[in-house]
Amino acid sequence: MSRATSATIHTDALRQNLCRVRELAPASKVMAVVKADGYGHGLERVAQALEGADAFGVASIADGERLRAAGMSKRIVLLSGFDEPGDLPLIRRLNLDSVVHHPEQVRMLRIDGDPRPVRVWLKFDTGMHRLGFAPSDAERVYRELRSLPQVDPDIVMMSHFARSDEFDHQATAEQIALFERGTQGLPSPRSLANSAGVLGWPTSHLDWVRPGGALYGLSVAEGRSAAEFGLLPAMTLSTRLIAINHVPQGEAIGYGGSFVAPKTMRVGIAAIGYGDGYPRHAPSGTPVLVGGKRVVTVGRVSMDLLAVDLSGHLEINVGAPVELWGRHLPVEQVAESAETISYELTCGITRRVRFIED
Ligand code: PLP
Repeated sequence: MSRATSATIHTDALRQNLCRVRELAPASKVMAVVKADGYGHGLERVAQALEGADAFGVASIADGERLRAAGMSKRIVLLSGFDEPGDLPLIRRLNLDSVVHHPEQVRMLRIDGDPRPVRVWLKFDTGMHRLGFAPSDAERVYRELRSLPQVDPDIVMMSHFARSDEFDHQATAEQIALFERGTQGLPSPRSLANSAGVLGWPTSHLDWVRPGGALYGLSVAEGRSAAEFGLLPAMTLSTRLIAINHVPQGEAIGYGGSFVAPKTMRVGIAAIGYGDGYPRHAPSGTPVLVGGKRVVTVGRVSMDLLAVDLSGHLEINVGAPVELWGRHLPVEQVAESAETISYELTCGITRRVRFIED
């Protein structure tokens, strides 16, 4: 029998989440962020499900190439831009848009011999301190780019939030104000909002919103579930129980003996582990659904196996279905237990997991 571990991708949920984003930001165009293999859901299948988006955001030219090869004709934006002159012919061949965030990129464009214009998203640093020009330089950089024949005059101006997931944090209000001040009077479309911006910061919606996590039904705001915002999970990670053991009181379970049975326990072994992308650092007590019942993990996560406490669940037998996260167990609950975010969990699913679409 082949390994039962699978990730089911709910393409309807992706479509419905896009509709939800459009309801929340009705006046904005939507760039669906599909980097990191569609947040682990599979680049091509996600883009196909989200073909109603106005553009796609990726982090590499290779991802842009995959999308074009899959027949995607919408705008595709390189969110981290290009970083060597040899990228420009590829960007033109694949008809990609690129973020420009650094003077070195402006220099590469200026000396580029090919006059065919590249579409540019001009990025400003309003507080993240990662990528972008100072907003006080906005007018100068904008005019410089507009003067280059290598740049399409339809420039979009953008910035990215650092703390928009904290809905009442002043930092986001300050980023919005800084962006507004820097770009006012420049006749170009503008883009600020990631998912949390879409959900919690309506004044940031502007011309383009750029949701990622919300489209996958992930929790995008601190302490708030995705369901609260009407978002549906797009991935269910599941497997089966392959063994059930009785572990006597005082015996340790799994590597390192990190969990010692406080009483005789009925312990189920599920066919999933960190080799599939289940987080190794998830501690004992992390929620799991087995046979539809909510139970918890015990002991360390192994490469291929995970132990769960079935004490009191005599009705559950070998072969019972196990849901690690998804439709019936929100991924953010597992993420919280593992002290990470749901994004990291879905992005971490490994290649040996079978992907199924429903
Ligand atoms: N815009 C940019 C520039 C990003 O880097 C990202 C992702 O990190 C997004 C939008 C989407 O963010 P989120 O998944 O939180 O919506």
